[in-house]
Amino acid sequence: MTDEYRTAIHEAGHAVMSALKNKGIEYVTILPSDKGLGECKNVDDKPGEEDSDIVQGLWLRREVLILISGTIVEAVVMGMHPIKTRGKHDYDVVNMILQGFDDEVAQKNIDEVTADAFELFRKPIVQKQIKAIADALVERKTLSGDEVKQIMKQVEGAA
Ligand SMILES: [Zn+2]
Repeated sequence: MTDEYRTAIHEAGHAVMSALKNKGIEYVTILPSDKGLGECKNVDDKPGEEDSDIVQGLWLRREVLILISGTIVEAVVMGMHPIKTRGKHDYDVVNMILQGFDDEVAQKNIDEVTADAFELFRKPIVQKQIKAIADALVERKTLSGDEVKQIMKQVEGAA
């Protein structure tokens, strides 16, 4: 397996989870930048101060879920050990957005969301979608949010 393919799988994990959870995707790429080996750029939809705690809590949980998805997908699809330096930036961001919560709550949140991610990524159809996105990324390097959704639909239609 090439390093590029592994990056593609990682970014496909972020992208597929975003799409499954109705989080907008601007683009996903395996072209390296100062942010890392690749990037899944999501639409910023952070709730405002005026939004309820429930809305903010659900948003936060989804953010964490999408962030950890790159690392979890490497574990599920490729059998890699879940905590790898490759996902370090993702986990740094998770820790940043969980700041202000007490450690126990933050850890419980990460554990629950990790379990959710494992469950979703074990589904055969989702694994097929991730591989299809990863293949397209290796070929085209960058995909728009619409292209991600299109590929996922094609896989569903073929199943
Ligand atoms: Zn990542």
